[in-house]
Amino acid sequence: MRSITSFDIQYAHRFFGFAGEAAYLHGHTGTLTIEVEDSVNMGVNMVFPCNEIKKTAWDVMKNFDHALVLREDDPILPAILKVYEEQGIKDGTPTNTMKGEAFKTDLATAYPECRLVVTKETLTTEGMIKIVYDLLKDKLNIAKITFTSGDNAASEEFEVKGTQDRCPVCGVELVDGVCPKCGYKK
Ligand SMILES: [Zn+2]
Ligand SMILES: [Zn+2]
Repeated sequence: MRSITSFDIQYAHRFFGFAGEAAYLHGHTGTLTIEVEDSVNMGVNMVFPCNEIKKTAWDVMKNFDHALVLREDDPILPAILKVYEEQGIKDGTPTNTMKGEAFKTDLATAYPECRLVVTKETLTTEGMIKIVYDLLKDKLNIAKITFTSGDNAASEEFEVKGTQDRCPVCGVELVDGVCPKCGYKK
């Protein structure tokens, strides 16, 4: 069975080199839906607590929220960094509080201090799914990711291997037989 969670991400981007309006810098509210597949954990009668899926995903995905997402070869990128630098906001400000943990994968690098994500490929809805799966595949048994943004939407199904050993009391994954949330020992 599957447990499913959805949340919104507000971000700005552009399609560098694209023949259309999307070549201009613009913003979206995108909705990310993550489906986690496993056996039903009989202790809590759920696959996985949806709020915990959201928490795990949001820890990294908040890097994209109120952020600028640009391709690594986009010439607008150094121009924006120059302005951020001149304004003293490139390396963070006290008001930039919603920072995720910085990450670097083959597809994307997050710079939380200046709310920027630099991507290898254009950030389409398909591109976002590739990035999200890469970031979360080792943390969650992801069976499907859907991303909708404006008129665009994409989804992909993934093969789920094995089962996660989960706490029968609160439902989160056990670490070496111990629940990191409630302390339950197997
Ligand atoms: Zn767009
Ligand atoms: Zn627990």
